[in-house]
Amino acid sequence: MEPAKESLCKHEAAKHPHPTGMSRRSFIVGAAGFGAVSLAALLGVSGCAPRLASEAADGASEEAPSYDIIIIGAGGAGMVAALHAFEAGARVLLLEKNASTGGNTNFAEGGMNASETRLQAENDILDSNTLFAEDTFIGGHEKGNRDLINHMCQNSSAAIDWLEDHALPLTKLGTSGGASVKRIHRPGDGSAVGQYLVTGLTGLCQESEIDILLQSDVEEILSTEGVISGVRVVSLESNKTTEYRAPAVIVAAGGFGANHEMLASYRPELLDAVTTNLASAQGDGIALAEALGAATVDMGEIQVHPTVEQNTAILLSEGIRGDGAVLINAEGKRFTNELLTRDAVTAIEWEQPGGWSYAVFDKEVYDANTSIAKKFEPKGLALQAESLEELATEMEVDVANFMDALTAYNSAIEAETVDPFGRTESRNLIKHPPFYAIKVAPGIHHTMGGIKIDTQAQVIDTTGNVIPGLFAAGEVTGGIHGGNRLGGNAVCDINVYGAQAARSALSFVGL
Ligand SMILES: Cc1cc2nc3c(=O)[nH]c(=O)nc-3n(C[C@H](O)[C@H](O)[C@H](O)COP(=O)(O)OP(=O)(O)OC[C@H]3O[C@@H](n4cnc5c(N)ncnc54)[C@H](O)[C@@H]3O)c2cc1C
Repeated sequence: MEPAKESLCKHEAAKHPHPTGMSRRSFIVGAAGFGAVSLAALLGVSGCAPRLASEAADGASEEAPSYDIIIIGAGGAGMVAALHAFEAGARVLLLEKNASTGGNTNFAEGGMNASETRLQAENDILDSNTLFAEDTFIGGHEKGNRDLINHMCQNSSAAIDWLEDHALPLTKLGTSGGASVKRIHRPGDGSAVGQYLVTGLTGLCQESEIDILLQSDVEEILSTEGVISGVRVVSLESNKTTEYRAPAVIVAAGGFGANHEMLASYRPELLDAVTTNLASAQGDGIALAEALGAATVDMGEIQVHPTVEQNTAILLSEGIRGDGAVLINAEGKRFTNELLTRDAVTAIEWEQPGGWSYAVFDKEVYDANTSIAKKFEPKGLALQAESLEELATEMEVDVANFMDALTAYNSAIEAETVDPFGRTESRNLIKHPPFYAIKVAPGIHHTMGGIKIDTQAQVIDTTGNVIPGLFAAGEVTGGIHGGNRLGGNAVCDINVYGAQAARSALSFVGL
């Protein structure tokens, strides 16, 4: 379906000076260290929508400005959408309930899947959008929406180019579970993709004239007789409520991977499971859209990741296995092809004694992934030894079993014979000391279900119609990942659909 072309206010918008009269529209309020500036104190002029006297919590009324597009959630999808909209000339308000930007995107480590990219061509990787789409569909247990998947894959290379054009190149290729070829794009220096993107996108938002309000919890999307008109927001600093006006709203509020009650309503066994998600992943965006009649899809599809450190809930990225780590159980034995999809590895790991395993790797993998030094070593979570025998002793597993497992793994690589567990990718010798082991087990990781959208990121209601003016992108949506998200596909999703939501919202408001 085409996005509606009718704008509630055919402005003028882009060419307008900022409502504050400030030359630079972007300012961030809250604990991010950018200065505790009150938006209400700075803003005062509205655009073409009617001026609004909003009710503050103490009963006083305040003037609030209006915008072309309001975006709920300053994670990856929200910031990508904001930048696309701003660059096309829209007046954008980006609202974030946390004290800093980034959401769960901050935690993404492995990378971003994309097909038919320049980097793949330079590395002689034969990939296609069709193969990427097929891997995604099959990896998602053939439950994903083909149209949404195709749209994501077809636009993935352009999203990589857009990042590069914004000084955020992803220049290293890797292997990720469920991908037929090397397709996961990562920062060249081995740093985690999430922090890399969030730092860059936040900087770009700051340099732009996007208004960003932190500690601003969106409680309601305003709509009168089916016409979206803005949002009602509570400041978590002052407790004041303000209404901001815009004819188009993009919901980019992330998933519900930290809402244990909501998770357990679909999968009761997950009530006490650890989660890799930020506490703010409560599914607010889903509830906000549902209140306007939005449909949801695949809500019971919840991803449990096989390699989560259980005391801290820190994720050991799939990139570690993708670079060569193997999994060893409590008996010192290898038990799976480590590069099966996450749900498959999780299921096999749960069957092992105690339901946990060690990820074992060498210095080469360590050097390629800075997260071990940054996240695991400072907390004493990475065992280290100069020989494999010593490592097995530190792991307190059967040394003979462990040596048999590692010898079988390495020998098959050297002899170029079939891996004992059928692993075909990233069969890298584990032979460069020091050697490392990190104890892991399954943890809640991703909510595949969410708001129903079409390929234009328009929100679909329960009767199958588009809700005019309402768009959604990122983990708050459902349908792309089906029954299992492939590693690297969420970062692709937020970039492709964040941009798409912006384009559709721009078209809706006539920009
Ligand atoms: C540990 C970890 C590692 C991961 N690694 C990878 C990886 O390597 N590759 C990959 O593809 N994917 C990865 N993922 C998944 C991926 O990071 C997320 O799916 C994706 O970043 C979600 O982006 P988003 O913008 O949709 O949501 P988020 O980044 O979570 O942003 C949503 C934002 O909305 C805000 N918000 C919520 N409700 C409200 C409200 N009511 N008002 C205002 N603001 C609100 C939240 O506070 C949050 O900041 C990982 C996830 C985790 C947790």
